Amino acid sequence: MSLLVRHIGELVTNDPTAGDGNVGRRHDAALLVDNGVVAWIGDSDQAPAADDVLDAAGAAVIPGFVDAHTHLVFAGDRSAEFEARMAGVAYDGRGIADTVTTTRSASRADLEALSRQRRAEMLAQGTTTVEVKSGYELTVDGEQRLVEIAHTLTDEVTFLGAHAIPQEFANDRDGYVALVAGAMLDACSSHARWADAFCESGAFSVEECRHVLGAAAKKGLGLRLHGNQLGHSGGVALAVELGAASVDHCTHVTNEDVALLGDSDVVTTLLPAAEFSTRSPYPDARALLNAGVTVALATDCNPGTAYVTSMSFVMALAVREMNMTVDEALWSSTRGGARALRRDDVGHLGLGARGNLVLLDAPRVAHLSYRPGSALIRHVVRDGRVLGR
Ligand SMILES: [Zn+2]
Repeated sequence: MSLLVRHIGELVTNDPTAGDGNVGRRHDAALLVDNGVVAWIGDSDQAPAADDVLDAAGAAVIPGFVDAHTHLVFAGDRSAEFEARMAGVAYDGRGIADTVTTTRSASRADLEALSRQRRAEMLAQGTTTVEVKSGYELTVDGEQRLVEIAHTLTDEVTFLGAHAIPQEFANDRDGYVALVAGAMLDACSSHARWADAFCESGAFSVEECRHVLGAAAKKGLGLRLHGNQLGHSGGVALAVELGAASVDHCTHVTNEDVALLGDSDVVTTLLPAAEFSTRSPYPDARALLNAGVTVALATDCNPGTAYVTSMSFVMALAVREMNMTVDEALWSSTRGGARALRRDDVGHLGLGARGNLVLLDAPRVAHLSYRPGSALIRHVVRDGRVLGR
């Protein structure tokens, strides 16, 4: 089965060998997906025949978004917390406990339905690859249930037992950390590809995160870290020390942190929807980019600090509020996300990449940031199949 997308006004491949510049841009282009992978890229008037044809009629085509940081398996509603925060109440990270309570009491069927619905919402907005974390039950059986549900949605499942100290361990931090690094990790590791920890004052210390992630690495899991969101947590240095795939948030970083990241293979995943939804200062993307750091953008989709599923919205924030160029924001939302997941088959449309792409309802990619809030996703193609057609 092959699909030809033709008459593409602006095609961003993110493959410098397939077009101009770092984003591999072409005009009046066509692209053939055969057996789920990109098999041909060229001028539209040279396009080969195919089983199915999608006529872009001059519109832009981009790689499917890769959202490398989400917490979408949860139950409950925290819109009242958002409302209070917008009225001046500061975020202190304690709202996670509310979601833990509602998630623990939700049935498996309800949790599955809620998660599927959120995944579908993301896909309709062009996100063809998504990472999903556990972290809202914080018990051995509960976290296992969450990684199992996450695994029905994606292969990019992350065990996040070290998300918060649950109420019942309030006076026994060491006991909880030992549980996460022991029985909980044992129960979750076969359903997860990654382990993550929330390295922050009020969450887990550098030493506690090192202990949990060290145990996870021994189990063969790749590492990610929530770091430097609310302060100088030491998370960046720990992520570099452990060779994590990504350190996420990085809203508060020192010059030393930036230099460390620039000299490492650790991707920095910025989550500006969290700053937007908590009315906080945005991370300094330019300092990171200027230091040669690989930057990804992701939604951080979660019920407390960023109930956002739209990568286009995240791109618009990155361009408007963080001084990233349109091309940088697009690259970070696609190939950057793939790098944060150590994936080379998604996030770009070079030859051999998976046929995951988005046909926009716009002639140029810049419209995604230029017209925020408008419905600009006309078709989503996954593995060469046009969804909903
Ligand atoms: Zn997060």
